[in-house]
Amino acid sequence: MSRFLSSRLAAMESYVPGEQPQDRRYIKLNTNESPYPPPPGVLNAVGQAQMAALRLYSDPTCRMLREKLAQRYEVGTKNVFLANGSDEILNFAFMAYGERGAVFPDITYGFYKVFADLYGLTAEIVPLLPDFTVNVSRFCNQNKLVVLANPNAPTGIALSRQAVETIAAQNPDGIVLIDEAYVDFGAQSALPLLSKYNNLLVVQTYSKSRSMAGARLGFAFGAEEVIADLEKIKYATNPYNVNRLTQLAGTASLDEDAYTKEKCAEIIQTRDYVTKALRDLEFTVPDSLANFVFAKHKTMRGEALYKSLKQRGILVRHFSGERLEDYNRITIGSPEEMKIFIQTVREIIGGYHETSNH
Ligand code: PMP
Repeated sequence: MSRFLSSRLAAMESYVPGEQPQDRRYIKLNTNESPYPPPPGVLNAVGQAQMAALRLYSDPTCRMLREKLAQRYEVGTKNVFLANGSDEILNFAFMAYGERGAVFPDITYGFYKVFADLYGLTAEIVPLLPDFTVNVSRFCNQNKLVVLANPNAPTGIALSRQAVETIAAQNPDGIVLIDEAYVDFGAQSALPLLSKYNNLLVVQTYSKSRSMAGARLGFAFGAEEVIADLEKIKYATNPYNVNRLTQLAGTASLDEDAYTKEKCAEIIQTRDYVTKALRDLEFTVPDSLANFVFAKHKTMRGEALYKSLKQRGILVRHFSGERLEDYNRITIGSPEEMKIFIQTVREIIGGYHETSNH
């Protein structure tokens, strides 16, 4: 860090992304990517001619993709915003709506706190209840920027649409941002509430259910005026925020929604298998509606399990912090990967029991 950095930023802690190791091949269950490739049409959408067209800037309005998304989700084109990953939308929302402060849970996506710090906002951090569920009443009558991941990360626990509606109705003077990065794996989207609540901002991504984390494509739905705010910030920071290839790939993906649905169903089925298998091995696993599970063993510490798995070529995500450190977050991979994962956990736990009996 140089001596020139402003003191507020010098004191700030940035987001630490999950490992993306380049040294060896792992069974990679640490950053909630899909184990499946994007649909075949996406692979064909980005051909030689499109590569040649890279000399041109991308369409800053993302017209084709925006129209197709609007059609697919049955909203107006002016209700859709597109960005370079949903992280960029979160960034813009904290920049735009945090003047009176922001409120989010203590255990949630770590980037919310980073954005609050980046913009010097007052953050009210509300503890989740002991079972990791959201204390809904604490998010009512806040009338500042309310941010909730639904399903939540890293727990996978989802709020009902009714709970989200209560929060939207009870904060008429604040934006209620529902981060639905994982919604396609079984939770209820807040999107149907949009026509009733002009303070709702529903944020989704191509990174998880649409198998396109590397393309960096996020989208949001909101009232026209809210989307106009985000556009304003986009044109004040990076007008070409979604590159040409990603716009094409994102559009093509929507032509093959049946593929996406099928892959989500497979992940849900594998998640149910993993949940049951871990519970049989004496793990506590909250019911997850995401493409990951959050698991704590009865006796073995979370970090020890993380390290043993890594040694054996399996990466999961371990978080520090008092209420989290005995857990690991495990992305749902392919059925084959998850069979190996469960077998490996069984061996590690077996070995651990043997040594701890002495
Ligand atoms: N929200 C949540 C809850 C997430 O876990 C992630 C993934 N790290 C994101 C948003 C950001 O996803 P992306 O920028 O890839 O769309």
